Amino acid sequence: TSVLMPPSTSFVAAGPTPPPSSRRVAVIGAGASGLVAARELRREGHRVVVFERGAAAGGTWVYTPAAESDPLSVDPRREIVHTSLYDSLRTNLPRECMSFIDYPFSSCLSPAGGDPRRFPVHSEVLRYLQDFARDFDLYGLVRFQTKVERVERDRDGRWQVRSKRTGDPGEQSEVFDGVVVCNGHYSEPRIADIPGIHTWPGKQFHSHNYRVPEPFTDKVVVIIGNSASAFDISREIARYAREVHISSRSEPDEPSRKQPAYDNMWLHSTIAGTHKDGTVVFKDGSCIHVDVIMHCSGYKYDFPFLETNNIVTVDDNRVGPLYKHIFPPLLAPSLAFIGLPWKVAPFPLFELQSKWVAGVLSGRIAHPTVKEMMDDVKAWYSEIKAAGWPKRYTHNLSNNQFPYNNWLAEQCGHPPVEEWRQLMYVATSKNRIARPENYRDEWDDGHLIPLAEEDFQKFLG
Ligand code: FAD
Repeated sequence: TSVLMPPSTSFVAAGPTPPPSSRRVAVIGAGASGLVAARELRREGHRVVVFERGAAAGGTWVYTPAAESDPLSVDPRREIVHTSLYDSLRTNLPRECMSFIDYPFSSCLSPAGGDPRRFPVHSEVLRYLQDFARDFDLYGLVRFQTKVERVERDRDGRWQVRSKRTGDPGEQSEVFDGVVVCNGHYSEPRIADIPGIHTWPGKQFHSHNYRVPEPFTDKVVVIIGNSASAFDISREIARYAREVHISSRSEPDEPSRKQPAYDNMWLHSTIAGTHKDGTVVFKDGSCIHVDVIMHCSGYKYDFPFLETNNIVTVDDNRVGPLYKHIFPPLLAPSLAFIGLPWKVAPFPLFELQSKWVAGVLSGRIAHPTVKEMMDDVKAWYSEIKAAGWPKRYTHNLSNNQFPYNNWLAEQCGHPPVEEWRQLMYVATSKNRIARPENYRDEWDDGHLIPLAEEDFQKFLG
């Protein structure tokens, strides 16, 4: 699309740039974004500590069959499970496209016992990320099983980070020059508001706690949402359940449609209400007796540890104000967020964001004035409004990810991102619509694979 292009402001330092300086930087999280941030920060000469509350690197890709004790994830006393993966998950992007720019996720590198397919299972992605951590010697930077409890600025403008190691009685407090937040945004569920739900007697889940389809055998299931998780989970459950009814915000209030290739799955408009007798009534007029409602309604950005005196807020899933989805103007460059954009190919985007943050933090790359950054943020908000997008789409980049990535690359003196990445991303999005049931195994963009492999050769020396 031509709307919603990120403003193309480019900032050049006035006068000679001072020599880059090394900062002490805390990175929160050792998922894909925290790992690549750690690598880039260290490459820039910063001293890095990565805090990771889990026991392994890889973030959301560290699968566990365990789900949270509250299947809806609303009980504040519940034990948090970070991952939202389900057992059968295969990637929804081809591996070439997922790959970091300079660290190939190539099928020819998959070891025996791995999954060499183009859209591999989740364990293959975890292996890739853990290989990345090993090959760039990042493990020594990570403090595992150490949860960041609190991040706040002290009087000198440095950051106090309080953390707690599992099993230790007390917290540890340390001071850093910079904090890079990489805590992921697929762990804190968003739940749709449904009239009558509090007295509806059925069972409710959020997709965050979905792992396997067997418990849904012979049930009548309503799936709320129609994006990536809803797409996969509805199809998987339909093989076991008696009936699956998908409720989608984008469906008109017209009679429900049977899904092609299924005799037990229907697409409906939104839910009008739920009732004590167990029925669910859709705005399309249909009324169904339902056993389970599965909320595939997405996630909230959540930074429970961060205290910024309201300089950074989350409002209807808009984290702001953030210059280029990364720096809060009033706290730049000492506070940065990596990984907020969605509807993107995440890993290469995280890599470019991290390179920029590392360079800006050292002073090698100039950052604009607070006013310039605020103006840029406001311009972005105006474009979103003009396009009729809700606030919660602030970090939805879709096709804007390509100019965004290239803007970041330019700031860093990095060549533009290879064209095959954009072509492959777009081809995959189209293929997902054209072949919803088998886009992971049949495609028309095979001619782009050799271009990716050729590009990867540069990094396989
Ligand atoms: P995460 O991977 O979530 O990592 C965040 C880390 O921060 C975690 O390890 C967590 O333990 C840690 N943490 C959080 N809070 C604290 C704290 N207070 N203290 C210390 N540590 C903390 N992307 C693709 O490219 N292809 C796909 O096919 C794909 N499929 C997906 C399917 C699902 C179901 C989901 C949920 C996501 C999918 N993604 C996919 C997107 C995926 O989220 C990104 O690929 C990427 O893994 C995000 O990395 P991250 O580092 O930003 O966050």
